Amino acid sequence: MKIFKFGGASVKDANGVKNLVKVLQEVGYDTTLIVVSAMGKTTNAIEVVIKNYFDESNELQASVQEIVKYHNEILLELFPNEQHQIYNDIKKLFEEMQGFLGRNKSPDYDYVYDQLVSFGELISTKIISAYLNSISIETTWLDVRELIKTDTSYRDAKVNWEVTQQNIKLNVNTSKLNITQGFIGSDPNNFTTTLGREGSDYTAAIFAYCLNAGSVTIWKDVPGVLNADPRYFENAQLLHKISYREAIELAFYGASVIHPKTLQPLQRKEIPLFVKSFLNPKGDGTAVTKGMGITPNIPCFIVKKNQVLISLSSLDFSFIVEENISEIFKLLHDCKMKVDVIQNSAISFSVCVDNKFDNLDKLLNILRSKFKVTYNKDVSLYTIRHFTESAIEGLQKEKEILLEQRAQQTIQLVVK
Ligand code: ADP
Ligand code: ASP
Ligand code: MG
Repeated sequence: MKIFKFGGASVKDANGVKNLVKVLQEVGYDTTLIVVSAMGKTTNAIEVVIKNYFDESNELQASVQEIVKYHNEILLELFPNEQHQIYNDIKKLFEEMQGFLGRNKSPDYDYVYDQLVSFGELISTKIISAYLNSISIETTWLDVRELIKTDTSYRDAKVNWEVTQQNIKLNVNTSKLNITQGFIGSDPNNFTTTLGREGSDYTAAIFAYCLNAGSVTIWKDVPGVLNADPRYFENAQLLHKISYREAIELAFYGASVIHPKTLQPLQRKEIPLFVKSFLNPKGDGTAVTKGMGITPNIPCFIVKKNQVLISLSSLDFSFIVEENISEIFKLLHDCKMKVDVIQNSAISFSVCVDNKFDNLDKLLNILRSKFKVTYNKDVSLYTIRHFTESAIEGLQKEKEILLEQRAQQTIQLVVK
């Protein structure tokens, strides 16, 4: 059994879907399970719908219709016969979405978010499954919410591994070509949950773990894992081989080509992860396997934009010690702030965080009652793994460094 994951960029239009077929034909698709994300930037577009819904904006319907139109254009290219059943299936999914918007009474943003954002994946997998069937590649469409069970932490749900494993083992026919949704799951009451933005890579790893798959391949718009994000760094180089440990570190520091949660389940069963280009399926790509370090052994650059640097100092010149630090961490956890770097001295404490869940004001208000607080929004966090002095110099040029932290393998710079 092998697991393939196709992300939004790979299926952003009808040609993308046709290219997915080409990839399958080139590399083979016997006993394969395909995990697919929402098409293109659909998740972002549904986030706009959710915002409009909560703001009671009169743009709400227009924002829904934009998503309908986008998918309809893809449908028209893939299914010239407008009598095809798929038109009805997609129409029903949009009606369900509208139905939810009309009848929902819950004020819980995260809950509503998950109920709505999941339509992106449901729609994309329905379209791709129908297209594959229409060209005689028979697929089994699986509703992943019946398989991956989670807790009720909407937008950041934790997997219930025991139940999930049982469901997957019992309900996935491994001799078929299966297609299912990334990113989503369901809670004990069968409400939809999501595993965190960009979580479809993780879904692929969950299936691989539960099915003891031979490998996972994530198909990307880059040749593999590079030593830097090519959007921000020139001359990024392909890493041919990476150990699980190194891949976890890179993903954790923010190399967004792999979702950080993906590696742990794969490492536990030593299932290899391949990162390959959907434009060059036979290319080498990157293999993440057991072993040591990275090949070639070169500095790796990671940038996380839109971070917040918060600096705290005591109001009365007293030390910031264990007790305060544990209290600060509890607050960060309660506000779902993802901590990137910390640094402390006798009377001050700095922390760089990812404000993913938009809780900064809430956090700052609480902190201000206990500490003197300063903060910088929109800072960038640069991390260099396996740094060299010339790599650091290159990075520091023309930047205002707000915080620097060095460990043996890794240097982190928070810059303005
Ligand atoms: P998906 O379509 O699966 O969601 P993503 O857009 O999430 O794919 O991931 C691919 C993108 O990740 C690339 O286009 C690239 O800009 C970015 N990226 C960030 N860091 C790296 C890296 N170290 N190597 C390759 N790509 C990277
Ligand atoms: N569609 C989801 C997102 O954009 C999940 C994913 O693409 O991995 O975050
Ligand atoms: Mg993505």
